[in-house]
Amino acid sequence: MDLDPGLTALRPLGGYFVLRAGGTPPGTPAPLADVYANRPVRSGDPLDFRVEKVRGALRASEPRVAASVAQQGLAARLWSVTLGCAALYGRIPDPDPRLLHWDPAAGVPDDLWLREVRPLPADPATVADAVLRAHLEPLAAALRARHRIASGLLRGNAASALVGAARQLDRWARAHGRADAAARARSLTAGLLADPLLAGTGTLTGTAFRRRSCCLYYRVPGAGVCGDCCFPRAPRSSARGTS
Ligand code: SF4
Repeated sequence: MDLDPGLTALRPLGGYFVLRAGGTPPGTPAPLADVYANRPVRSGDPLDFRVEKVRGALRASEPRVAASVAQQGLAARLWSVTLGCAALYGRIPDPDPRLLHWDPAAGVPDDLWLREVRPLPADPATVADAVLRAHLEPLAAALRARHRIASGLLRGNAASALVGAARQLDRWARAHGRADAAARARSLTAGLLADPLLAGTGTLTGTAFRRRSCCLYYRVPGAGVCGDCCFPRAPRSSARGTS
């Protein structure tokens, strides 16, 4: 199925899977290329803004904890729209960071806007280049320039976000009789986890994932453990997270 200019097939999936596409985004959200390159944008520093927003929402005292959660959230958005298109269309829209605008103050789905839909094949190598190398690696570098946060932790977050998106998609596809879409999402996810940037970040069993690095979420006041936690129970909040 060809990608349509509005990516309408994503709409029934809702939430993280919806991507606004075509034309000019409302307001002045910056292209993600500018965010990763720390180019000045009119609204100030979008990454610092988002990390502070997350820190306030979580009441987390450590900025690096908020940085980890913020990175995982953006990774989840990027994987969701990409996996959703791969599963439903068999193609993905090129998420070129020069075309994909991000509003760090907005919630889903208004936070992302793709100016133009240009189809790409949905094989693991193409998707890894389009999401991992074009987005998540420069995002990690930009965050690591601001916060004391390990690259292994951020890659673990990227893998966790990928599997989380795949799990949601799998549930939706099975509930809507789309075994074909579920199979495409599963196969693409397994291929992406084998990419050198994600290999070794955790173990995938069906749609369940056990990560090998800690995302630091346990350091949020009152937080428990994530479903793919590397520990059987949350470490004491005074403990340091592994990375
Ligand atoms: S202990 Fe587990 S759940 Fe808690 S922050 Fe680390 S990885 Fe996430």
